[in-house]
Amino acid sequence: MVIKKEIQYSGKAKTLYRTDDETKLIAEFRDSLTAFDGKKKGSLEHKGHYNAAISAHIFKLLEEEGVPTHFECMLSDTMMLVNAVDIIPVEVIVRNIAAGSITRKYPIKEGTPLVPPVIALDYKSDEYGDPMINEDIACVMGIAEREELAVMRKIALEVNKLLIEFLDSKGLLLPDFKLEFGRLNGKIVLADEISADTCRFWDKKTGKSLDKDVFRFDKGDVGRAYYEIAQRILPEI
Ligand code: UDP
Repeated sequence: MVIKKEIQYSGKAKTLYRTDDETKLIAEFRDSLTAFDGKKKGSLEHKGHYNAAISAHIFKLLEEEGVPTHFECMLSDTMMLVNAVDIIPVEVIVRNIAAGSITRKYPIKEGTPLVPPVIALDYKSDEYGDPMINEDIACVMGIAEREELAVMRKIALEVNKLLIEFLDSKGLLLPDFKLEFGRLNGKIVLADEISADTCRFWDKKTGKSLDKDVFRFDKGDVGRAYYEIAQRILPEI
């Protein structure tokens, strides 16, 4: 059993704790909800639990399919034990159906199928406002090697394929999602989380959002949406 130590970092929805094993961290999923770079704030009972459980379920599924992740195990409803990785400050966004920023920034209508999937990279930086970058810019900044970016892209496409198939069996569409990666013993692994905070999930029949868009755009009962997605994805909830 690991022992939880001091806070290493507290983000918008998760707190990372050091442990007595310096190769492991505890990620605590909190009930806080933020959108638009933290300008819109809220809180939702049980959200930490739902997001942690969805993330754990998906990480396990991906590991079984050979995708390396930082996930180790759940320690409680909201506490996830993960391998300490050197996070690469790049958000890899995979899009299958146009929604969100791509429909605001470009003349692409919401709902347009994106085949093959569109991959975009954002520089993860509050100071610079998470601008979109590409491989050349990431290399010039020295935040990732070209080979690492190629591996991230390959893993992102594989994750996309596996998630689309899994979610389809739950009656869900996956318009888009965001991944983060880290280095672990010289290898690129999936890190952070995969949840209703970082993915768009649409009901296949109705097109209804079952993700953070319900909070972002006041689309209805946020608690109900987070509960429904947890119920759809997780057998045990
Ligand atoms: N996303 C995320 N964190 C970010 C930016 C985006 O998890 O900092 C996710 C978001 O939930 C969505 C996808 O990445 O599933 C694409 O987001 P988009 O660029 O459309 O931004 P948004 O419209 O949410 O501002």
